[in-house]
Amino acid sequence: MNENNVINEVTSKQPRLSENFIKVITRNELSHSYLFNGESGVGKLALALFITMGIFCPNRKNGYPCGQCNECRRITEQQHPDVVIIKPDGQSIKVDQVRYLKDEFSKSGLEGNKKVFIIQDAEKMTSGAANSLLKFIEEPGNNIFSFLLTTNMNLILPTIISRTQVIELQHLDTDSFEDKLSKMGILKSQLHLVNKLTNSTEMVKVWQEDDWLSKMQNSVGNWFDLIVNNDAEAFVTIQSNFMPLVIDKDHRAPVINMMIAIFEDVLNYKYLKLGQFSFPNNEKNIELLANKISSKTLVQILKIILGCNKQISINVSFQNILESITLKIMNILNR
Ligand SMILES: [Zn+2]
Repeated sequence: MNENNVINEVTSKQPRLSENFIKVITRNELSHSYLFNGESGVGKLALALFITMGIFCPNRKNGYPCGQCNECRRITEQQHPDVVIIKPDGQSIKVDQVRYLKDEFSKSGLEGNKKVFIIQDAEKMTSGAANSLLKFIEEPGNNIFSFLLTTNMNLILPTIISRTQVIELQHLDTDSFEDKLSKMGILKSQLHLVNKLTNSTEMVKVWQEDDWLSKMQNSVGNWFDLIVNNDAEAFVTIQSNFMPLVIDKDHRAPVINMMIAIFEDVLNYKYLKLGQFSFPNNEKNIELLANKISSKTLVQILKIILGCNKQISINVSFQNILESITLKIMNILNR
């Protein structure tokens, strides 16, 4: 890792934390022991090295280490005599490794030099190593700073956690909602609809249970196709297709909102002639209806469905509401 990479990595991956630590260093308020908890790749080692540079660098600018001096360079090359980095020797960090660290530090503690130790994968300390370290971080000496890095804080001894300041490192959240939805397995044909219905990934998770989202989208699409073709079967699908999917009150609003979304597709197509459709699989009938009816009729239909949003919270049978919507829409289209 070269010195500029460390600074770049930290400021891009952990902009808020690196800035906070610069303030802390500038005010001389650095704690003696930190525990950095976070997934791999979040920049734990880079942050520890960055702070260490901040401790040793004689040429700090606005608190930031210069990244170029002898101190900075040796720290990032992991060659600094007063910075000791320990990582697992095989599967674990053994008691001998911690003993070596303590010996090194007690020698130089006498000289009054600043010392930093960094323990990578700290959860891999054997209990002997952890206990040995414990006594050491209880009374670290004024010029000794320690950074314990872990991907799983649950595996660290509580007695160690209680003697460190725990810092949680998280991945920078740069994904858009649609990126998140794709990663959750939402199909391309569902993206626009889901984006329209909610901005909560928690909600989407609920809808994904038992493939509810796909089933409901298909049912509404099928209902719409029947309506466009003036097929009275549309009325029957409420009981046969919709109601088994309305498993509780929380599933009512999204059903109504899907009905609204498919008629909004018609409206969009009528005006924009292009579709980012909520119901791309029903494109043919969406176009057909858009070419057949006036925008005034379309608005009437949307008002009928929107009007039901109020009713769903009160104690009216949801099946009655949906059947009534279906009849009214079919009547309007048949005029
Ligand atoms: Zn420097």
